[in-house]
Amino acid sequence: MSDIRIEKLRKEYGQTVAVNDVTITFPSGSVTCLLGPSGCGKTTLLRMIAGLEDVTSGEIYFGDQKVTDLAPSKRNIGMVFQYPVVYRGITVYENIELPLLQEKLSDQERRKRVMDVVETLGLQSSINKDITKLDNGTRQKVAVARTVARQPQIILFDEPITNVDVASKDQLKQALKDLTRMLKQTIVYVTHDQTEAMTLADQIALMKDGVVVQRDAPRSLYNQPNDVFGGWFLGNPGMNFFDLSAKTNGHGTEIQTGLFSRPLMIEGLEKDSNIKLGIRPEQVKVSGKKNDRMVQGTILRKSIVVGGQYLVTIKSCDQTFKAKVEPETGYALKDEVWFEIPLKDIIIFGPDGHRLDV
Ligand code: ATP
Repeated sequence: MSDIRIEKLRKEYGQTVAVNDVTITFPSGSVTCLLGPSGCGKTTLLRMIAGLEDVTSGEIYFGDQKVTDLAPSKRNIGMVFQYPVVYRGITVYENIELPLLQEKLSDQERRKRVMDVVETLGLQSSINKDITKLDNGTRQKVAVARTVARQPQIILFDEPITNVDVASKDQLKQALKDLTRMLKQTIVYVTHDQTEAMTLADQIALMKDGVVVQRDAPRSLYNQPNDVFGGWFLGNPGMNFFDLSAKTNGHGTEIQTGLFSRPLMIEGLEKDSNIKLGIRPEQVKVSGKKNDRMVQGTILRKSIVVGGQYLVTIKSCDQTFKAKVEPETGYALKDEVWFEIPLKDIIIFGPDGHRLDV
């Protein structure tokens, strides 16, 4: 199996720069999710890897082989699209078997390849069914199975869950997770859904405006975003940010804020700089009782979030921010609460939005 190396890859559509000189390697045998908001260039990048889109400039290598100008059919890739591509009038089994008929395989080997993937994707009860009788999620599984059974060196997924009925989404996601864990291929998977990326990826390449802003393991990306965009985009909701200034005095550099119970001294900051302090809502500790690390605030808003936790908006020191609390806490609007922003969890970003390693 081979890695995919992308060097200074660029795609322009008239005035629009869809992919802006991206250099990245997708490691062999692992799952990389291209994640980012709509229009950031994920699909264009994927389609250039597939050969479905010409490049404006830059190069693409599969292992040592330069494939930039190679026709899609010569690239030995498999691709799964947003809408399931299936063949009507034949059964599920025949759909999966179809591309294998062109390969020199014994009947036994062909059957084994089909049945292995049928089992992994949980399609056993559907193999003799007419494809038109199946729901969208099962059809997409069939499209995935047909791609995987061919055993291409690289598999590309373009938002395969997006158009599946809500009821089938979780099941398909789980099936894809089971499948991708087993596959040895290099997989690139495009999604705008962070939960999907967090579930499936060995590493996530986060994109914004045609650029990969960070490539990291899902947890590292979540905990240590390289810039404000990563902190904002990941999370439900994303990070709280506080615009603060750091003043240097005789004792060191102190961040001017009342959000902490004692002066916040940070080593390694430039003299008298403006910074952004980031903290995730679930990391803010909220209590009805004071202790000496806590600061007072008022509940401004309250809403329910997934997982049964409440998302509350707290106001303190002319700043508002979000925190997640358990329902049993029973906080109501205008309640006075105590909170702590743990120092170990804060991220400091410089004036240009990049994380400062201080
Ligand atoms: P989405 O999740 O909405 O598909 P994306 O991150 O995959 O978004 P792309 O579809 O790659 O983004 O689009 C990147 C940019 O390129 C967008 O501004 C889009 O409008 C533009 N674009 C994409 N394809 C074309 C095209 N065929 N012609 C002109 N502009 C295009």
